[in-house]
Amino acid sequence: MSDYVKDLMAEVKAKNPAQPEFHQAVQEVAESLALVFERHPEYRTAKILERIIEPERVLTFRVAWVDDQGEVQINRGYRIQMNSAIGPYKGGLRFHPSVTLGILKFLAFEQVFKNSLTTLPMGGGKGGSDFDPKGKSDLKIMRFCQAFMSELFRHVGPDTDVPAGDIGVGGREIGYLFGQYKKLRNEFTGVLTGKGLNWGGSLIRPEATGYGATYFAAEMLTTRGKTLEGKVCLVSGSGNVAQYTVEKINQLGGKAVSLSDSNGYIYDEAGIDKDKLAFVMELKNVRRGRIQEYADKFKGAVYTPLDAKMDSNPLWNHKADCAFPSATQNEINAKDAQNLIRNGVCVVSEGANMPTTIDGVKLFLDAKILYGPGKAANAGGVATSGLEMSQNSMRLGWTREEVDNRLRMIMHAIHTTCVETAQRFGTPGNYVNGANIGGFLKVADAMMDQGVV
Ligand code: NDP
Repeated sequence: MSDYVKDLMAEVKAKNPAQPEFHQAVQEVAESLALVFERHPEYRTAKILERIIEPERVLTFRVAWVDDQGEVQINRGYRIQMNSAIGPYKGGLRFHPSVTLGILKFLAFEQVFKNSLTTLPMGGGKGGSDFDPKGKSDLKIMRFCQAFMSELFRHVGPDTDVPAGDIGVGGREIGYLFGQYKKLRNEFTGVLTGKGLNWGGSLIRPEATGYGATYFAAEMLTTRGKTLEGKVCLVSGSGNVAQYTVEKINQLGGKAVSLSDSNGYIYDEAGIDKDKLAFVMELKNVRRGRIQEYADKFKGAVYTPLDAKMDSNPLWNHKADCAFPSATQNEINAKDAQNLIRNGVCVVSEGANMPTTIDGVKLFLDAKILYGPGKAANAGGVATSGLEMSQNSMRLGWTREEVDNRLRMIMHAIHTTCVETAQRFGTPGNYVNGANIGGFLKVADAMMDQGVV
C-alpha cells in the first residue's frame, strides 16, 4: 500500500469509525487511483477523491408504522446522496436487518463509479432501512413502504434523486413506494425505477442486472477466444439478480448448478434448466419460500445448510468454470477464492455488490483469472434504470429487443472501458483498476469543471 493510500485510509477510518465495509470499498478504489494521481497530480491537489468520499448529503429518519396486530414499530430510514457531478443521484433502496449507515455508504460510494461507467448521466446514491421484509404480510409491507416514503418524498424527485430496488426491494415494494409518492406530491413522474410495466416501468429492467452480469462474463471470455457454451456456473443468491443470471446462462448455452439463500444452498449437477428456474421464481417471488424446497422437489439436487460460523462457504467449493456471486457483500473470502481457483474457475462476474473481500480479490488478480468486479459487472441494472428514466422523460416505451440491445451495447462499452483503461494505466487485464479508474475519470473531470462545491 502506498503512503498516499495509508494516510488517506487512516483519515477515512478516523472520520468514519465502525464502518468496515465503507473502508473496504474506499481502500480498493484508492489503491487503483494511486496510479492516476502519479500522472495527474491536479486531481490530488483538487482533493477530488477526498471529496467523493464525503457524501454530499446523508439523511437519516424515523420510520414509525403500525403492524397488523396494532403494535407500533420503529425502523430507521436512510438516503445517502453521495455525488451528483454527472447527474441526479441514482441508486437502490435496501430493506434488510443488516442495513447500517456504513453499509449504505459503501454501496453509495460504489454506485458513483458504477453509474459513471454506464455512459449515462447519473450521479450516485443509495438508501434503505433496517426493516426486515422476510415473512411479513403484504399489508405490513405496504404500511412500512408508505411510512418510509412519507419522509423520503421530500428529498427525491425525477431530476434530484431517483431510487430503485436492491435487496428486499422488488416490484411489490417499488409499487407501494411509488403510490405513496404520487399521493403526497400529486404528480406522476419517474421518481423511482423498477416500476410496473403499465405505470411507467421498462421492459427488461427486472432482468437487467443478471443479464448484464452474464453478458459481462461473455465479454471477458471473448478476450481469451472462449464463450459460455458448455460452461458450468456456480450462482449464489436466489433473488432478482441470481434468477436472471441463471436465465441468461441457460440462453447462452451454459449450465448453472447452484443457488442459495441466507439459510443454505442447493447444488444440482444436472443443471437448473428453464422449468426448474420457473419453480424457483414462483417459490421466491410469489410464495416467498426457502431454497431448501428446491431439493425436496427435484431429485438429484442436494441441499446444504449454511452456517455463518464456517470459515468458508461450501457453495464455492465445487468444480466449475464460472462463478456469479449474486447474494450479498463479502460472500467470498480468501479461502473461498482459493477453493474457486483450485476447482478450475476461470471467470468471476459479480452480480452482487462487493461480494469478494480484499484478500479474495488479490488472489483472483494474482491467479490472472477473468475477474469482473461488481461495479462493472452488475452495472446493467442501473444502466437499464437509466433507460427507464429516458423512456419516462420521453413518455414512450421501447420494445424488449430495443432495451435488451441497448443493455448489451452498454455492457460491451463498460467492458471496453475497463480493458482499455487497465491497459492505459499499465495493468492489462486488471478489471479492478479498469473499472475504478474508468469510473473515476468522468466524475473527476466534471468536478474539476464545476469548481469546489
Ligand atoms: P434480492 O433481495 O432479490 O435477493 C437477495 C438474495 O441474496 C436472496 O436470495 C437472499 O436470501 C440472499 N442474501 C441476502 N443477504 C444475504 C446474506 N447476508 N447471506 C446470504 N444470503 C443473503 O436482492 P437482489 O437480487 O436484488 O440483490 C442481490 C445483490 O445484487 C446485492 O448485493 C445487490 O446490492 C446487488 N445488486 C442488485 C441490483 C438490482 O438491480 N437488484 C443491481 C446491482 C447490484 P434471503 O432471502 O434468505 O435473504
